[in-house]
Amino acid sequence: MLDASYNDNLQKLVCFALFTTHATTLCPFHPEVTIRVGDAAAETHAYYRAKNVIKSDGTSWDHEELMDEIARQLTDAADGVCPRCANLQHFHA
Ligand SMILES: [Zn+2]
Repeated sequence: MLDASYNDNLQKLVCFALFTTHATTLCPFHPEVTIRVGDAAAETHAYYRAKNVIKSDGTSWDHEELMDEIARQLTDAADGVCPRCANLQHFHA
């Protein structure tokens, strides 16, 4: 169960929802790099997981806020592969 501060922080909540549904993952070699897996079903699942969370004031996040934050985090994430690992492979090739 998430604590109240998590439920009230849209950025943390979306990050958690994307990660726990495996819509995003972390590079095993660069834990600071978030990677978008590219699984549309997982991304939809993440939306519903976040949508089901109730804020401490008893309301839930609205559709627009959730969609905007999910889109923002997926855009920020690396697409499919860790760019640092990809650069290393390029360097050694
Ligand atoms: Zn990496």
